Amino acid sequence: MDRQRAKADRRSEAVQRRDQRLWAPWRSSYLARTRSTPQRCIFCLRRLGAVQLSRRLILYAGPQALVMLNRYPYNNGHLMVAPRRHVASPELLSRAERTTIADLVAYAVERLRAALRPAAFNVGANLGRAAGAGFADHMHWHVVPRWEGDTNFMPVIASTRVLSQHLEESYALLAPHFKAIETALS
Ligand SMILES: [Zn+2]
Repeated sequence: MDRQRAKADRRSEAVQRRDQRLWAPWRSSYLARTRSTPQRCIFCLRRLGAVQLSRRLILYAGPQALVMLNRYPYNNGHLMVAPRRHVASPELLSRAERTTIADLVAYAVERLRAALRPAAFNVGANLGRAAGAGFADHMHWHVVPRWEGDTNFMPVIASTRVLSQHLEESYALLAPHFKAIETALS
């Protein structure tokens, strides 16, 4: 009897753990796509006009690095910071790139705090496909704002159409917060 109860307890703990992950259903189609078809690198930019920047959800593109809203976010305001050069791992970055990226991650956290008032953040990088990187060849840092109870946040924007509208709104909301970035970095 005790053994059965222990088994049931373990199962309910596992369910609770699973339920505490963010639910982002569109990511499964994104992962399937990135695994099956080779595609152009989303971080390597050819043109830098205002239209291209907003179409690609880029909030800042400087000589060393850029800041971009994730099109397949884990949460509202999920940003990515990437070097401009197409490199796969941080040890390949120059001193200047490392400095700029560290500054941009700090700046992104500060701006997201001001714009969205999150309770916490996940900040980090997945190096290599086996670690979960969608674009493994061009390394990037994720800055993901978190709120208490946000594991239930995503079902509201579960359809692609609603998601893209939501992304445009997030971009419009965050863009002014990144206007002063040149001054902040200098
Ligand atoms: Zn690239």
